[in-house]
Amino acid sequence: MSGRKFCVGGNWKMNGDQKSIADICKTLSSAPLDPNTEVVIGCPAIYLMYARNLLPCEVGLAGQNAYKVEKGAFTGEISPAMLKDIGADWVILGHSERRAIFKESDELIAEKAQHALDQGLKVIACIGETLEEREAGKTNEVVARQMCAYAQKIKDWQNVVVAYEPVWAIGTGKTATPDQAQEVHAFLRQWLSDNISKDVSASLRIQYGGSVTAANAKELAKKPDIDGFLVGGASLKPEFVEIINARQ
Ligand code: PEP
Repeated sequence: MSGRKFCVGGNWKMNGDQKSIADICKTLSSAPLDPNTEVVIGCPAIYLMYARNLLPCEVGLAGQNAYKVEKGAFTGEISPAMLKDIGADWVILGHSERRAIFKESDELIAEKAQHALDQGLKVIACIGETLEEREAGKTNEVVARQMCAYAQKIKDWQNVVVAYEPVWAIGTGKTATPDQAQEVHAFLRQWLSDNISKDVSASLRIQYGGSVTAANAKELAKKPDIDGFLVGGASLKPEFVEIINARQ
């Protein structure tokens, strides 16, 4: 046993309305959730307060993005201070959709992460390679580059969870095999040991994300360096409970 608490995040992305969110919160409130798993829900910003009032209090709440400063003339953005103010305690940063669609750079994402941590939020810091990068044999190089950018800004890793999400596995139904995921997680563990510290390497939780379902979660959860999941599509369905309980 690693001593790292299993941590499962649900990333609802830009999905849901008041009715469907109430339904999911009801499912999560009535189901037996493994007390040894930390659960975090990444909710669309506009529904964060609504979800906070409906979710069990032991379930954490995350924004899916936040800007790198506290306040000001940044139309359309929200800040970590605002997330904290309405009862969110986490933020997901660097998701591949933010990187690809909204052109967020490694540097901007790292700046956002450090600011969120400074403001007292916990951060799910996403990384992951595209199919093209994997096929070119560049997976380790890409995730190391993304980790380096975070490491340039992040001084204290205590409130950080890294989510390794191969882009080719996100929303595609093509999950990385447990061995493929473990291989990259082990590489990241070694990278942390070599570039940050042995303590951070031993204690930092690394989630796997990419088409995780109730059907594949148990096998993935057996791998020694997989400390949880970041789940998109399946987090909107009742099977999310089985994913939370994958270690049972
Ligand atoms: C995600 O959005 O982080 C994700 C992993 O999505 P999915 O589970 O749908 O592949």
